[in-house]
Amino acid sequence: MNVGIIGGGIMGISLGYFLSRQGAKVEIFEASPVLGGLAGPLILEDGTAVDRFYHAILSSDSHLRELATELGIADQLRFRETRMGFYYQGKIHSMNNVVEFLRFPPLGWIDRFRLGLTVLYAQFVRDWHSLESVSVEKWLLRLSGRRTFENIWRPMLRAKFDGGFENTPATYIWSRLVRMKSTRGGASQKEESGHLIGGYATLMKAMAEKIEAAGGKIHLRTPVQEVVIEQGRARGIRIGQEVRQFSSVVVTMQAPVFRRLIPSAPQEYQDYLSKTEYLGIVCPLLVLDRPLTGYWTLNITDESIPFTGVIETTAYIDPKYVGGHHLVYLPKYTAPGSRWQQMSDDEIRAIWLENLRKMFPDFDERSIRYFLIHRERYVEPLHLLNSTDLIPSVETPVENLYLATTAQIYPALTNGESVSRHASQAAQIVLGASLSPALEPAVTVGRVAPANSAAL
Ligand SMILES: Cc1cc2nc3c(=O)[nH]c(=O)nc-3n(C[C@H](O)[C@H](O)[C@H](O)COP(=O)(O)OP(=O)(O)OC[C@H]3O[C@@H](n4cnc5c(N)ncnc54)[C@H](O)[C@@H]3O)c2cc1C
Repeated sequence: MNVGIIGGGIMGISLGYFLSRQGAKVEIFEASPVLGGLAGPLILEDGTAVDRFYHAILSSDSHLRELATELGIADQLRFRETRMGFYYQGKIHSMNNVVEFLRFPPLGWIDRFRLGLTVLYAQFVRDWHSLESVSVEKWLLRLSGRRTFENIWRPMLRAKFDGGFENTPATYIWSRLVRMKSTRGGASQKEESGHLIGGYATLMKAMAEKIEAAGGKIHLRTPVQEVVIEQGRARGIRIGQEVRQFSSVVVTMQAPVFRRLIPSAPQEYQDYLSKTEYLGIVCPLLVLDRPLTGYWTLNITDESIPFTGVIETTAYIDPKYVGGHHLVYLPKYTAPGSRWQQMSDDEIRAIWLENLRKMFPDFDERSIRYFLIHRERYVEPLHLLNSTDLIPSVETPVENLYLATTAQIYPALTNGESVSRHASQAAQIVLGASLSPALEPAVTVGRVAPANSAAL
């Protein structure tokens, strides 16, 4: 079996690794000069490699930890206790233990109790299907109450969804609460986050080496123009004028990008794929000479601040691994057609700095070594109320053509853990093998499998 895989992000490389581990010959085609996609590295002017977007591995990411052990890179994993806070009415409030939680000023005693109950309740929900038809607003109002919703949840949801979240099901917040809680261990409920030294690039490199050792090939700077389809079957892929033949083709990009590659697929299927929408992102990275907050995540519950949060990855990455720099990401998630995606870098920079000064009056701009702005149009698939029928399956109507994409990961959140796990399940489908109990899907593959909250 020889398989052509399009896309060299976590999905494509993991898929290549799992397929070649089971004897398939794979060739991976990646448009850009480096592997990694959204999780890829960025080389600063001083030569230091850092993550283009922030990427944490959680201590509960069992699939990734096992994979790292299997690849012989587990000794490159580093975890640290991290802190989370809220920016509310001009002040930072730490939210890391029961005492801080009980002191949290925007909420009264009953509200705090109900907020705690919401987090706890989410851990006991096993059948996410029951949340699929309930709006996130209705669910949170019922569990947390009006005041908590208005003070905490609404601003956070507005920031995440760039405005409207009316059609968002409760599964969204449920997955988040379960994942957040999964990092907190023991009686202290301390949170641990981590990374691989060198970022996800280290994982990519280790998998790429195994793929090549098994006879597979990885082609960088090789954008694929089309999946060649004849008489309802995928025959290969087209790169420029050249056609390469494969017995199976797997596409790992987002649904709208996939659609552009298959002009000869049935029109109905193309229309179906175009119904999946995505959040995008505008994400400035500030490379500083000193820490900014010391918090891994600062949630912002102030709607006048344009960015969604302040993410300081050097709260868990020792700066010695990133050239002695301190890395602060200031993401703004964007809805389809958002005005933020149209703004120039200069405009973004001016607005972001103005708001940073507002949040941190002592912030010294001389601490900025680099200010870099990255954008992506398709980052997180948007799942709307009662729309699981819009989740495309791994199998497509075209014979020998498969799709392994983040939109299939639901209700789990999309991250290295769930993407690589999904790739291992998609590899089984491509190989036509029946799933062994050990590979029982923990995330939804197409429309068939139940979710297991432990994997979120
Ligand atoms: C801001 C942000 C924060 C995140 N935080 C975390 C986190 O803390 N922890 C975590 O684990 N995950 C995190 N993630 C999620 C993680 O990055 C993604 O889920 C994962 O990288 C998706 O991988 P993928 O392979 O599915 O897609 P992609 O990374 O998008 O890969 C698709 C690849 O296909 C290539 N491609 C596109 N078109 C073509 C073509 N025509 N021919 C050939 N190649 C093509 C692209 O160049 C790309 O490399 C974050 C993501 C973002 C954006």
